[in-house]
Amino acid sequence: MSTVGTGLSDRGGADDENGLPWLVTPLRRTLETQQAHALLIHGPGGVGQFELALALAQAWLCEALDRPLVDRPCGRCASCKLHVARSHPDLLVLVPEALRESLGWDLGGNEGDEAGEGGKRKPSKEIRVEAVRAAIAFATTTSARGRGKVVVVHPAERMNDVAANAFLKTLEEPAGDARFLLCSAAPDSLLPTIRSRCQQVALPVPPAADAEAWLARRGVAQAAVLLAASGGQPQQALDLAERGIDAGAWLALPRRIAAGDPTALQGWGLAMAVDALQKICHDAAALACGGAPRYFPKERVVGEADLDALLRWSRELARVAAEAEHPWSIDLAVESLVGQGREALKTPRSRGHPPEGLSLNSTR
Ligand SMILES: [Zn+2]
Repeated sequence: MSTVGTGLSDRGGADDENGLPWLVTPLRRTLETQQAHALLIHGPGGVGQFELALALAQAWLCEALDRPLVDRPCGRCASCKLHVARSHPDLLVLVPEALRESLGWDLGGNEGDEAGEGGKRKPSKEIRVEAVRAAIAFATTTSARGRGKVVVVHPAERMNDVAANAFLKTLEEPAGDARFLLCSAAPDSLLPTIRSRCQQVALPVPPAADAEAWLARRGVAQAAVLLAASGGQPQQALDLAERGIDAGAWLALPRRIAAGDPTALQGWGLAMAVDALQKICHDAAALACGGAPRYFPKERVVGEADLDALLRWSRELARVAAEAEHPWSIDLAVESLVGQGREALKTPRSRGHPPEGLSLNSTR
């Protein structure tokens, strides 16, 4: 159930049906302008930082030297074929164990990865210092095919403190001919010293029309609804669709939660359920304050909510989101959160009076 392809595209062209078409321009621009040995590709989650990093790596390692760099990767040379097969000896991809499968990067073949550590322990959500040290060792050895080496770190903010400090030393004193590509949806949580040693490549949310067309090609009906549900981030929208959450289910959600129906979130998993509840809470609060909803069409948002209760709900949602990795009963947690949502989304009129000092939006 990957939301992430195998790179910008398997042919490296970015414009075929496997590619992310909105990355064509950023790829070209980055190849044209960025010569630094370390780049930080950042933007909202789900817009393709990892795919752009892989495409850059493929282009840098591509052996079609008769083409200008901006026209690489060629997708046909021996190096590109190794890249597509995920067995390029000069590319090392550092991702947390827990993300390997969903990223489609679940192989044990890379030097320095953590997959071989054997064990029944739970896959780590962090990038550990052992993996970073192995990547540093990889970067300092000679390029196997003579086009340098590339290390991709995704998501860079998943390096724990020890790992980040080890990585920082490499950025400060680069050895060999390796280049580093850090991907992040939360660049502010990186060490400032890491940020300052990378050239920044900002990747914005793609134009809605491009994203909708891309989703439609993947069979997503009413793509605009799921795109809004994901804050404009197409890979997240596809993730929703692949989990069986269609536009109808999304649009019905606020009212089902207002009715206190936890089955509306059955099978979503805690993190996704909390995320959806946070979006309902956000939109109800926005509308109640006279603002515009962001994730649901206005007519689907339950209006005239109780702002005090929304605030309490929002705090509780944030608390659970921060603890979402704990294995306590998902059903119970969702049921409790939906119960609070039902309270918050009741109209204040039914309870007598609006909260002090708040002017409720009268347009709904
Ligand atoms: Zn090539």
